[in-house]
Amino acid sequence: LVRLRARLARSQNSLGKGLLTLLSREHLDEDTWEEIEETLLTADVGVAPTQELVERLRERVRVLGTRTPEELRGLLREELVALLGPELDRTVHTESPSDVPGVVMVVGVNGTGKTTTTGKLARVLVADGKSVVLGAADTFRAAAADQLQTWGERVGARTVRGPEGGDPASIAYDAVKEGIAEKADVVLIDTAGRLHTKTGLMDELGKVKRVVEKHGPLDEILLVLDATTGQNGLIQARVFAEVVDITGIVLTKLDGTAKGGIVVAVQRELGVPVKLVGLGEGPDDLAPFEPGAFVDALIG
Ligand code: GDP
Repeated sequence: LVRLRARLARSQNSLGKGLLTLLSREHLDEDTWEEIEETLLTADVGVAPTQELVERLRERVRVLGTRTPEELRGLLREELVALLGPELDRTVHTESPSDVPGVVMVVGVNGTGKTTTTGKLARVLVADGKSVVLGAADTFRAAAADQLQTWGERVGARTVRGPEGGDPASIAYDAVKEGIAEKADVVLIDTAGRLHTKTGLMDELGKVKRVVEKHGPLDEILLVLDATTGQNGLIQARVFAEVVDITGIVLTKLDGTAKGGIVVAVQRELGVPVKLVGLGEGPDDLAPFEPGAFVDALIG
């Protein structure tokens, strides 16, 4: 956890430290508030949340009058945490109420880190004592099934795969069937993120979902989003949300951007919490998203 925090801090430093430095100026004039606003917008926080935050900060600083650095830090921390929705349920639900395994479908555009996230999540679950079956339903990208299987071997999870270019829905179906037969705890399904047309995507993901639900309800549909893609990522997210009911967001590559504000923007956009964050390519680089820890990493 310490390592993950350090990694976050390194990439996000400019945002949190920048805000704190600006807020600590002796005279908080209009220009300074504008700079604070710009800092937030540059970090992809989004227009409406930025305006709300600045308004609240202005009011609180005004009420405070003279202020110590500790007070300012505390105030900024509180407001940033509040912006991230500390009350949201960020549990990744894998406990099926019935006898069948919990089923998690992982969706997102290719290249965002879907397969890597599926592998890392399997590792977390296995470390937690759960047995996991992986479904390689990303038949669009040739190497995806191999990549997932390698993860499976690494973490100790069986991978169900089909022929190259095979039908994703039937692979997903087989994976769940296998999970039931093996009495596995969780089935994780990696899907294809073909976003050529919305109807194409809808057909494919919709079919996977329907087929999986023949066995029982899906416990989670996680949308994987690359934090470095900013507004583009948000547009993608919207399309996916129209196609399936996203229950949680995984924000990957947060180690490679200073724009942590995307967490706020995407939660607002979809009305769904960020549950996990990717902080690197390694097997241990997936962390639960925790607003307090995140803000602490931001402002140091
Ligand atoms: P997919 O096409 O969505 O399945 O994407 P992949 O899982 O193949 O990931 C694409 C690339 O992003 C790979 O090189 C991954 O190692 C890398 N990647 C995935 N997650 C992260 C992350 O959190 N941080 C960094 N730095 N790289 C990541």
